[in-house]
Amino acid sequence: MKTSADIQRMCEEFQIQMIDFKMTDIDGRWRHITIPRERFDDDIFRYGVGFDGSNYGYAPIEKSDMVFIPDPDSAAVDPFAGVPTLTMCGNVCTIGEKENIPFDQYPKNVSLRALEYMKETGIADRMVIGPEFEFYVLDKVRYQISPEFSGYQVDTRQAEWNCSLSVPGNNGYEVTYKGGYHASAPQDVGYDLRSRMCLAMEDWGIKVKYHHHEVGGPGQMEIEVELGDMAEMADNTMIIKYIIKNMAAAEGKTATFMPKPIYKEAGNGLHVHMLLFKDGKPVFYDENGYSGLSREAHYFIGGLLKHIASLCAFTNPSTNSFKRLVPGYEAPVTIGYATSNRSAVIRIPAYAKAPETKRFELRNPDATANPYYAYAAILMAGLDGIRNKIDPEANGWGPYDFNLYHLSAEEQKKIKGLPRSLGEALDALLADHDYLTAGGVFPERLIEIWLEKKRAELKEIEQIPSPAEFKYYYDL
Ligand code: GLU
Ligand code: MG
Ligand code: MG
Repeated sequence: MKTSADIQRMCEEFQIQMIDFKMTDIDGRWRHITIPRERFDDDIFRYGVGFDGSNYGYAPIEKSDMVFIPDPDSAAVDPFAGVPTLTMCGNVCTIGEKENIPFDQYPKNVSLRALEYMKETGIADRMVIGPEFEFYVLDKVRYQISPEFSGYQVDTRQAEWNCSLSVPGNNGYEVTYKGGYHASAPQDVGYDLRSRMCLAMEDWGIKVKYHHHEVGGPGQMEIEVELGDMAEMADNTMIIKYIIKNMAAAEGKTATFMPKPIYKEAGNGLHVHMLLFKDGKPVFYDENGYSGLSREAHYFIGGLLKHIASLCAFTNPSTNSFKRLVPGYEAPVTIGYATSNRSAVIRIPAYAKAPETKRFELRNPDATANPYYAYAAILMAGLDGIRNKIDPEANGWGPYDFNLYHLSAEEQKKIKGLPRSLGEALDALLADHDYLTAGGVFPERLIEIWLEKKRAELKEIEQIPSPAEFKYYYDL
């Protein structure tokens, strides 16, 4: 645990002039507030910094005073600030009569409470996760509604950074603009940028596993980091997205985690690998189980699959999320698990054989999720599976070792689909959320606020004429 003396030492070492506090709003965006270094002292770890919670989506205007308490262990130099700046994450409290009370809806508190609940159940004392970051880096994006652009639209002609090598649709001998999976130079024009992103992550204390060009033609990339404790990985998810977006911006580009920015190109997933430990031993391993997985691992999978529709309200909480979950792009569309199968919503990686790495990945999540809520919800669904012994095989959810994009008429009757829209996911959350509120992990009020907020978003988007509507109906 770092003390304020350590923070002062860091300030000396890096000649810091500003101290910056980063907070997560309800959607999962970072916001920040900054104080001059001279104003920094011990008291800040006790009394925090006051702010207006109503602008974060957390409180009504008549009760909007909240405080942010920084966590000294999260201190890092912000590489994107010109003025030398030390930045910290932390937690949010409401103001009680005598002292501050941790705010039960604040994303970080929800994830910490989920971990406490996991310990209370006696099932495990540690959850390790590995999120994978897929994103597009594009030159230029136009978000406007104008007569010139009939709707919200990504200008892909300009956007293809790789396009300096060629133009789509040309008919001469030219290097294809499609980068594609693990593409190398000269198609992989993003290599240096991606490497710089990874070096910035390492400097921030995040260990990178590898990075590469992804399947999506114009500039889709992936960075994977080493697996780590869930609480830390939720913070790291915020840091990683911040680094990726800012490093791209520093080079005059935009990075987007939007699940499906470009029609008919691969979408951006945020696959989450997971495993549990108890007393240092892996809970998910059994050498005699299917794919080396224990009974508990199967029940955990059962919980995820049982609640998957409602879970999507937190792991895939945008209308765009469901444009990614369509057949043919390595994104899941049905409820089922399998080994080595990238068309299944739960894939057990065949290469992770050692007991302490035995795990599976959930493939539906995307980075429009608030990571704290998403990881907490995943854990709660899995724990519900273990507590209620939900057997995925007995429920007919697999294992499906075949391509789930090509189902026979018979199979289509048996195998259920994931929600097709945000509206369906929100309806599912309304009907099925006891597994989230168990142990007071997700406050009831948070579920209500989330539903209200997302329904309002959905309604607005549904009412905006889309570019496709212009294509089909404008000249009728
Ligand atoms: N981009 C794919 C998705 O939308 C995943 C590709 C992969 O398996 O890495 O989930
Ligand atoms: Mg990938
Ligand atoms: Mg993956």
